[in-house]
Amino acid sequence: MSRLLYQGVDGVADLSELIASCAGASYRERSSGYSSHKADSDKLREECGVVAVHGHPGAAREVYLGLYALQHRGQESAGIASADGQRLANIKGMGLVSEIFTDDVLAKLPGSMAIGHTRYSTTGDSALLNAQPIRVDSTKGLIAIAHNGNLVNLGNIRARLERDGAYFQTTSDSEIIVQLIAHSKAGTLVDAIADSLGQVEGAFSIVMMTRDRIFAARDPRGFRPLSIGRIQNPEGPDTIVFASETCAFDLLRAEYLRDVLPGELVMVTEDGLTSRQYASGLPQTSCIFEHVYFARPDSRIFGRWVQESRDQMGRQLARESGVDADVVVPVPDSGVTAALGYAEQAGLPFRMGLIRNHYVGRTFIEPEQRVRDFGVRLKLNPVHNLLDGKRVILIDDSIIRGTTSRKIVRMVRGAGATEVHLRISCPPTISPCFYGVDTPSKRDLIAANKSVEEIRQYIEADSLAYLSLEGLLKSCETKENTGYCTACYTENYPTQWVDVDEILPAVVTI
Ligand code: SF4
Repeated sequence: MSRLLYQGVDGVADLSELIASCAGASYRERSSGYSSHKADSDKLREECGVVAVHGHPGAAREVYLGLYALQHRGQESAGIASADGQRLANIKGMGLVSEIFTDDVLAKLPGSMAIGHTRYSTTGDSALLNAQPIRVDSTKGLIAIAHNGNLVNLGNIRARLERDGAYFQTTSDSEIIVQLIAHSKAGTLVDAIADSLGQVEGAFSIVMMTRDRIFAARDPRGFRPLSIGRIQNPEGPDTIVFASETCAFDLLRAEYLRDVLPGELVMVTEDGLTSRQYASGLPQTSCIFEHVYFARPDSRIFGRWVQESRDQMGRQLARESGVDADVVVPVPDSGVTAALGYAEQAGLPFRMGLIRNHYVGRTFIEPEQRVRDFGVRLKLNPVHNLLDGKRVILIDDSIIRGTTSRKIVRMVRGAGATEVHLRISCPPTISPCFYGVDTPSKRDLIAANKSVEEIRQYIEADSLAYLSLEGLLKSCETKENTGYCTACYTENYPTQWVDVDEILPAVVTI
């Protein structure tokens, strides 16, 4: 049963209750060096998906569909805020989008504008009140905000705002943005938003709504995706849609127009769409791991279809580290597209030798040893007749702690494989992310502490190879020359502000 938080249509939200960071770790957690990555998780996790709809009689229902398509970006909580020109309602709940937003609940969200958010939250940070959108009555009026990403220069801004008299009730990224807007000396809301976004550093794709307007913005380096779409309306103005990934547009029958540009602030009113560049001049560093793992293969992000990128990663991996074998088997679901590319390039049969149980839900994502040991076998099961007596090339998208990879290798061997060769469709993950991806500290990243050969021994594979950085970048090339962040593979962080505690050399050998 989902738990819901319903904010009445005109009520004024209490900042202390409502403000929370989209990102898994709050500012306090990050600044104390606390790693929020779930101890049982051996996958990196995206932390949010956002959607906004302007100019549709059933805007909340459209946002619901968009969030449904973005469910992979966060499964622990979701929220939708809607506005009808005068009032602004907001409903949030714990659980999957379809569990929270029944017909009865959607009926409480009237209006032709809506924004929504789906969230993956981390240990100690999964309370209902931390769900988004948050709704705040600021000095610039009632605002609902939902964002995807992590800010990295919060300490300085917070100290400055406090010197200027700001009273903080939480430690979240979102409160910093709202406080900046509220304290901006700019005369209009749009100027205040531009002024505020220009002061924060880090990764954010934001949708915001007032009683009569919608705003969307990306950080100046364009870390996280955010696209603009349109539903044509022959009888009136078109509906404008924003979504973290274009797969959301397909369900809405919206046409993709373009990406929100890095450093761009877009405003949609009854008069249409206007845009301004609130920041420029910084090199684009879009998250390459969106192409490797997070985004759905049927999405187009950063100017490129994710499916094409993963197919190329697989082909490049086959060129770089081919090995004699009988079958190519993906670790489903995320390894499937790269495995297809690998198999085609290598001229080997592709087989679904591992089956994922899609009905394993959040119930089993619990940091308890008993469940953790059970976890991989609950999620994956080998197809014995496809693996028995075969030399298997296993394709996966990452090795984080190594524990899950070892269990999978053992599982494939236990099903009769005579050899297991693991191929990873990106370089070794050697450093944490500070830009909206839930990552363990460096001490828990196996590739930060062991050589490739040591990892091979640990996971008990016959051979192990990663895609090279050059190969990854080549696989994600665009005509527009998209620049990518590769910091979790290179430690070259695009921003100055990172949490030093998290990236100090590991002191523990796993
Ligand atoms: S550090 Fe890695 S996961 Fe984080 S934004 Fe950069 S490429 Fe993406």
